[in-house]
Amino acid sequence: MDSYLRELEGKQANDPLFIENMNKNNSTSSNERCLWIPGPLIVGAGPSGLAVAAYLKQKGVPSLILERSNCIASLWKLKTYDRLRLHLPKQVCELPLMKFPSGFPTYPTKQQFIEYLESYSEKFDIRPWFNETVKHAEFDATLGFWRVRSEGKGGMITEFVCRWLIVATGENAEAVVPEMEGVGEFGGSIKHTSLYKSGEEFRGKKVLVVGCGNSGMEICLDLCNHDAAPSIVVRDSVHILPRDMLGKSTFGLSMWLLKWLPMQLVDCILLIMSWLLLGDTARFGLVRPREGPLELKKLSGKTPVLDVGALAKIKRGDIKVCSGIKRLKRYTVEFVDGKIENFDAIVLATGYKSNVPYWLKDKDMFSKKDGYPMKPFPNGWKGENGLYAVGFTKRGLLGASMDAKNIAQDIEWCWKSEAKHTLAFALLPQSKS
Ligand SMILES: Cc1cc2nc3c(=O)[nH]c(=O)nc-3n(C[C@H](O)[C@H](O)[C@H](O)COP(=O)(O)OP(=O)(O)OC[C@H]3O[C@@H](n4cnc5c(N)ncnc54)[C@H](O)[C@@H]3O)c2cc1C
Repeated sequence: MDSYLRELEGKQANDPLFIENMNKNNSTSSNERCLWIPGPLIVGAGPSGLAVAAYLKQKGVPSLILERSNCIASLWKLKTYDRLRLHLPKQVCELPLMKFPSGFPTYPTKQQFIEYLESYSEKFDIRPWFNETVKHAEFDATLGFWRVRSEGKGGMITEFVCRWLIVATGENAEAVVPEMEGVGEFGGSIKHTSLYKSGEEFRGKKVLVVGCGNSGMEICLDLCNHDAAPSIVVRDSVHILPRDMLGKSTFGLSMWLLKWLPMQLVDCILLIMSWLLLGDTARFGLVRPREGPLELKKLSGKTPVLDVGALAKIKRGDIKVCSGIKRLKRYTVEFVDGKIENFDAIVLATGYKSNVPYWLKDKDMFSKKDGYPMKPFPNGWKGENGLYAVGFTKRGLLGASMDAKNIAQDIEWCWKSEAKHTLAFALLPQSKS
């Protein structure tokens, strides 16, 4: 029995032989095949998918990751701007089981984070199947397994059959592009932040950035640094906090204070400190919400902006604050407050959404409305019939690590007991026909 378990533990679910054998017996047509995956199937090779695969590996459970792009961490490699650094301090952004290199700064650069993720997948020998877009996944109650249909290169359709399905497609799977009246008339470039790399291409231009989250604010700063003239659309109230306070990261300080004080009091301290360091942001058109920053995060998941220098540019008038957009005309934007201004380009910092409802046919775990687990944190990681979610906590990489640990522990127990039963069944004397 032990040698059987050792053999399974030594296998990767993506070991070609392991799969190829299954393939021979199950192929249906030249452009369609059906593969049995003995371990968990993970959809998405971002940090969350890698974290759960590493934990599973450590517990001796082989898994397979399907990834629609051609690399790991595609959000970080392909859809983020050049000057990006982690918004949160490195201590809360490490994946489980592997520390950041000691020389990393408090806020690692995007490139450093990507290098870390590459070393991470090498260390745990994680080899996702790339260019596989999962289009449909459904639990087959008759079989007692998940059937996951994926489209690969050249339109090859593969149906993966598995006992455990782990959703790791992320909170940022699809760009949110708002509808704007007159968009066809505008004439200048309109791009989502997922396509923005640097302000270089906007040098000397008037650019309207729509949305004032962390990305919108930082892109305005980047545009200023490349001699462009940015304006930012601020429709809602927003909390702007300095990224660091009293020589500590604001995030770290908040977490520390929360150990001793109630959330409302910590919010008060954060707001007083912000007022002392940044002044009254409402004077510059950035009105604060009624709820404090931590309370708002808890209630709605809305993250405060951690300022890295954009506010100083707003104060100096280098970045203009505008109200919501009413409509676009040729190289012109009409705002809801009646102002009209010319722009050469528009950058949409309007965020992302989950794509789970498009491909996962499940009524119980994920909300059809927003594609997040319906159970609140910290219980959203587990559904029915071997369905799991990692990285949907609105708590960044820290939340993903917590999910990954819970999932791996849950599956380990089941995997080992099922492997023993399979072996016991195989050892039963077979009746002769
Ligand atoms: C600009 C920016 C800065 C951020 N900074 C921080 C930070 O400092 N700290 C922090 O904790 N968090 C930060 N975040 C949040 C960040 O997105 C996450 O922490 C992290 O990337 C989440 O990892 P993930 O694996 O859950 O999702 P993702 O990184 O989005 O990975 C999901 C993967 O799933 C794949 N996928 C999606 N749909 C399918 C499908 N149907 N079939 C196959 N594959 C699919 C995608 O291609 C992608 O590779 C930041 C986010 C952004 C956008």
